[in-house]
Amino acid sequence: MTSTGRLDGIGPDVLSKLAAEQPRLMATKSAINSARAASGATGLRRATERSYNVQRWFVAPRGGYFSALEAPDMLCRNSALSSLRCAEPSSGEAIRPRKQREETGMRLAGKVAIISGAASGMGAATARMFAREGAKVVIADVLENEGRQVADAIGASARFEPLDVTKQEDWVAVVSATTRHFGKLDVLVNNAGISGSAEQDFYSTEAWHRIMAVNATGVFFGIKYAIPAMVANGGGSIVNLSSIAGIVGSEHVHMAYNASKAAVRLMTKSVAVQHAKDKIRANSVHPGVMPPMRTSGRTADPAVRAERMRVIPMRRPGEVDEVAYAILFLASDESSYITGSEIHVDGGAIAI
Ligand code: NAD
Repeated sequence: MTSTGRLDGIGPDVLSKLAAEQPRLMATKSAINSARAASGATGLRRATERSYNVQRWFVAPRGGYFSALEAPDMLCRNSALSSLRCAEPSSGEAIRPRKQREETGMRLAGKVAIISGAASGMGAATARMFAREGAKVVIADVLENEGRQVADAIGASARFEPLDVTKQEDWVAVVSATTRHFGKLDVLVNNAGISGSAEQDFYSTEAWHRIMAVNATGVFFGIKYAIPAMVANGGGSIVNLSSIAGIVGSEHVHMAYNASKAAVRLMTKSVAVQHAKDKIRANSVHPGVMPPMRTSGRTADPAVRAERMRVIPMRRPGEVDEVAYAILFLASDESSYITGSEIHVDGGAIAI
């Protein structure tokens, strides 16, 4: 069990409308009363004349009615109820992660995660942290040697899968390998990315397409193929690596980098809105100045980095684990009521 949703202010007029619209909604007063008589269930409450606590009707009877889990969702989605207030009091889900953590001491105990671009940098740091916190981790990257080394160093709770995020068939293979080996998918970290700071021509069309393909389309594909596995699993958490460059403009990079990271930010919010009903959360993480990416150009130049430090309130670059901790929080059930949100890990860079 299940959720304990409550719908306030549902009168007989609405119920009869619902019953007409939804064949499965047999929740009329007489049906309830006969179920009550048949089951003798203690939790079944009598519906009042003007106010019905719908959820309780479905908790007690064992047959013939839909479960308490689906009842609130079904009713809240129903057009006849659009003017009503749908309330979801505490379901117990929010306290479960804390209990699980107390039992295991690990923040991702029992979770299965895919991390794209986990062969190096922040992806590798996140994979190591996830495994330490009890997750099974799939390290997915175009870099096979480096990716296998990261997986081998972690041990049995990690495996490497080759992935070019721009190829849909690769995503299909990675998701299916994950569910085959580890049984399910709880977490996707869309971390793979390439920089736009090595481009000589800031108006190169080729660079535009290349950067958008990896940083934006690659994230779209990840979401597209992870969602069905998460729905089958009963929920999940998607964490997308954007950047402060997805929120403000940058001096030293091809604008495709900004555009792609801004796309990641808004794709995240779309997923959050569209899949909350599936118990899938989506949030974005926005690092500031970090150790340079493999593909960095100008932003890896010590002179450019020193200049950037002067405008960061904390006057230092971030460390990979400082980003991994934000990802860990969003991946875990500790953030169970956080979706469509964003965390800036930037030493205050865009707070100015
Ligand atoms: P990194 O270059 O160390 O790691 C990126 C990883 O992505 C690499 O392992 C690379 O092989 C992989 N990758 C690249 N193209 C791929 C593809 N087509 N398919 C699969 N994997 C691919 O960089 P990082 O610093 O660890 O960056 C991680 C993420 O954080 C990126 O999305 C990046 O844009 C973002 N970010 C980085 C910084 C920074 O300063 N380093 C700042 C803000 C945001």
